[in-house]
Amino acid sequence: MISVDDAQCLVLEQAIALPAERVELSEAIGLVLAEDVTSDIDSPPWDKSIVDGFAVVATDLATGKAELEIIEEVMAGDVPRRQLSRGQATRIMTGAPTPVGCEAVVMVEQTIMVEGVSDGPPGRVRIQTDKFAAGQNILRRAAAMKRGDKVLAAGTLIRPSEIGLLAEVGRSQVLVHRRPTVAVLATGNEIIACDRNPGPGQIRNSNGPMLGALAKRAECIVRDLGIASDTQESLERHVREGLQADVLVLSGGVSAGVLDLVPGVLAAHDVEQVFYKVNVKPGKPIWFGVLNREGFRRLVFGLPGNPVSSLVCFELFVRPALRQLAGNRDAQPGRQWARLSKSHSVRGTRDTYHPAILREEDAGRTVEPVAWRGSADLRALAEANSLALFPGGDRTFEPGEQLAVYPL
Ligand code: AMP
Ligand code: MG
Repeated sequence: MISVDDAQCLVLEQAIALPAERVELSEAIGLVLAEDVTSDIDSPPWDKSIVDGFAVVATDLATGKAELEIIEEVMAGDVPRRQLSRGQATRIMTGAPTPVGCEAVVMVEQTIMVEGVSDGPPGRVRIQTDKFAAGQNILRRAAAMKRGDKVLAAGTLIRPSEIGLLAEVGRSQVLVHRRPTVAVLATGNEIIACDRNPGPGQIRNSNGPMLGALAKRAECIVRDLGIASDTQESLERHVREGLQADVLVLSGGVSAGVLDLVPGVLAAHDVEQVFYKVNVKPGKPIWFGVLNREGFRRLVFGLPGNPVSSLVCFELFVRPALRQLAGNRDAQPGRQWARLSKSHSVRGTRDTYHPAILREEDAGRTVEPVAWRGSADLRALAEANSLALFPGGDRTFEPGEQLAVYPL
């Protein structure tokens, strides 16, 4: 049986970034840039004031005190017309260009109007400041970026801050990797839709909605295929439909049961097995395969039916694949380190990913495994905010030991 690391490598080898397409900036949030972006402007575009106040000549403020003649008012959007000389000040608003001769701006809170009001003719201003330095409150032209600078690299995840920067440099459209499409299919004769009341032997489909939600959170377009029964005919019909998507995620039907028909049906649709079974708890019977056709490729994950197993396998294998398909360079699950807060025993050779509560405390990060009744216990999972990794081997982990933890 292969290790989690080896299985992740095999998945990532098959997950090639999807082709690029041009989208409107408003559609780009959560996607990954497929081009380098250069600035078409200097930012700021001129020497600008970063406060509301008065532009001055530095020598006038040598003592921190001055009374100056106001020669002009410059609002944001205006361009100053008059050059500043000694004894003069220009009333200036945040973001407005500083006038020629301006060596500093004094904020309005350190000034008093002597004559004149804002809607009348300019008058005089008295300044009193105990902290003055030449250059203060001026941001120089191109201090943040120069026209022609590369401001974002291909492979960058577009967050709201990148949206702002792209807008600043005039990119109303951007080239991004296409959003992956994900089909989700639950399987099992006993599985019914969650809006129904279970009869004898029946349980509700929790995996379908959960896996769909995970894929949606991972910035994918989700297609819920509902529930297939454990028959060749039903599975084939649903799988055929699911293979329209970039990624097909199935749950159930991959264990060693009599009606675990999924691997056989996938093989019949030319989906080649890459691996079956990983040395992990929960989630051992995970199946992964690829359909390669001229011009396209499909990734297929057969996740074990127990809901916690399905979620753990999604986090370990499906999410990294989706991230890489979407063009992300760092596709591996995000890992943190934390100290165990109470002793915990594990048995068996498999690495265990145990639902846990990760806490940020003054003394550092701690992790507490939640009481967990096995791979069907969704309630425990809902209490948790992370998975704590207990490496395989019969042993008791003591409070204070460092563990790798994967936030959910
Ligand atoms: P299987 O992998 O098909 O053998 O299923 C393992 C366990 O998970 C069984 O107890 C199933 O009833 C349960 N199970 C399978 N699919 C789902 C699902 N979609 N939602 C909730 N439980 C499921
Ligand atoms: Mg089943």
